[in-house]
Amino acid sequence: MDINSERFYNWQDANDIMQHGEYAEPGYGNRGFPILTANWNDVSETAQTWLEQRFELEWSDEWSTCGNCYKLVRISGDCWDWKPFYTIGDGELTCGDCIVEYPDDYVESLIDNPESVEMFDLDLKPFGFEPVPDADYENGMHPGQTDNPIELLAQLQKQYPGMEFIFTGYGNSQFCCTFSAAMRPIDQD
Ligand SMILES: [Zn+2]
Repeated sequence: MDINSERFYNWQDANDIMQHGEYAEPGYGNRGFPILTANWNDVSETAQTWLEQRFELEWSDEWSTCGNCYKLVRISGDCWDWKPFYTIGDGELTCGDCIVEYPDDYVESLIDNPESVEMFDLDLKPFGFEPVPDADYENGMHPGQTDNPIELLAQLQKQYPGMEFIFTGYGNSQFCCTFSAAMRPIDQD
């Protein structure tokens, strides 16, 4: 079957298979194939084998598309060091590529927000942020890894009056996550 034929599109429709152009997810798409998402339990082995030679096949419940560029991101982790390459603000999913390209709203949403940590290795210097000295935080399963962003933010605000803060430098290892903080003077005007 020709993958650009109407017959093939109809077959995809009938099997709830969605076609996508590109991944935003880091580490994917090396073969440059278009991507199909579906519940593959509903598709025959023969069809899947045929498709695998022409497409990347992904599970529809594990992937979603960016509301801005329509590229695909994984929405469920597949290994311990996975971290989401997207944010959800106002109910809309935005991929990391779009965040990096247009970071302003994202950076704004992180300021003095202990519920969020900057995840995309953004350069915060152009926004006037500098690293907070000795801000090496850990939260995890081992004793002492109890750094809590809500408490940390309160401490930082006390320690550095007149400043606003972003938690950043997020990293995860098997049993804990690490992060740090950056600060800038609160805009007075
Ligand atoms: Zn995007």
